[in-house]
Amino acid sequence: MTEPRTVTLATADHGKVTIPEPTWCAGHSHHDPNTQHVDLIHAGHAVDCTHLGTNLFSAELVQSPHATSSAPHLGGRTPGVSVYPLSRTLDPVQLYDLAAALDGYADRLRDLADQLAATLTGGGQ
Ligand SMILES: [Zn+2]
Repeated sequence: MTEPRTVTLATADHGKVTIPEPTWCAGHSHHDPNTQHVDLIHAGHAVDCTHLGTNLFSAELVQSPHATSSAPHLGGRTPGVSVYPLSRTLDPVQLYDLAAALDGYADRLRDLADQLAATLTGGGQ
């Protein structure tokens, strides 16, 4: 059996702390030692949707193991997926809802492309 992964991080208020490291965490290479203990956060690798150089959406697994907030959309002790630009942390049901909304939006974009193509070839109004 392998030892649980841990990570040791400097904090402004508790000094160096060693905490369990989830397998999905992408690491803490950008950790700020002035971070408060309550603000420590694990983040996974970002899943980005970038088009023409603009980042339209970004999502990543996050968990704040010492958070005091009980508002799930602000992140917390339960892992969630943080979504930019929503600035919310979603649970699985909410993330499936977002994916469904994006599917619907993609369909509307295809309809708009069809309408534009027809208009450009003289078939539309
Ligand atoms: Zn971590």
